[in-house]
Amino acid sequence: MKKIRVVESVLKANDANADANRARLDEAGVVCLNLMSAPGSGKTTLLQKTIPALAPVACGVLVGDLQTTRDAERLSEATSDVVQINTGRGCHLSAAQVSNGLDELDLAKLDLLFIENVGNMVCPASFDLGEHFRVALLSVPEGADKVAKYPTLYSNANAILLTKTDLVDILGFDTDLVKSDLARINTAAPLIECSPQTGEGLDSWHDWLRGLCS
Ligand code: MG
Ligand code: ZN
Repeated sequence: MKKIRVVESVLKANDANADANRARLDEAGVVCLNLMSAPGSGKTTLLQKTIPALAPVACGVLVGDLQTTRDAERLSEATSDVVQINTGRGCHLSAAQVSNGLDELDLAKLDLLFIENVGNMVCPASFDLGEHFRVALLSVPEGADKVAKYPTLYSNANAILLTKTDLVDILGFDTDLVKSDLARINTAAPLIECSPQTGEGLDSWHDWLRGLCS
């Protein structure tokens, strides 16, 4: 009988790279967060507001997008430690891509590293990048049903941010539905309601981040 060769699973190979990234970050004393959400939920805007507010905590960003350096350009106003990773057709960041990004940063001078993942609610949740904490965003215009529809993203998160809360009343957003859906799949992660545009609620997010650094 012909022997069938099986290539090691993509996820298993990714996990080995992720563990190496985490060891490298631990060695440098950098706390790393993986930010995941749909496109347009406000990841970049959130980081633009967060990085200056956290000073003197030194923050760097690895930002993933299929194309363009637009997000890195926006973030470069807040920190010089920004690297854009273009994935081409790739719909998520891999640990190997993050490893290449880490090569471009001076980790010794950073306290916090944010990885802004490619905007996508599905596969980023399955790829460990070597982060210490996972943050999932849901923006009000996306609709209150998304926690139940994309449970993998929200069940594995260490913190969940409901963003664009300035639109709750305008859009008739059902925040209670989000809370009851989260109660079924993730009771450990705090739900932080905020508007990066207006600044409302960002203090809780910044306090949560400072708690990770101490
Ligand atoms: Mg972005
Ligand atoms: Zn993908």
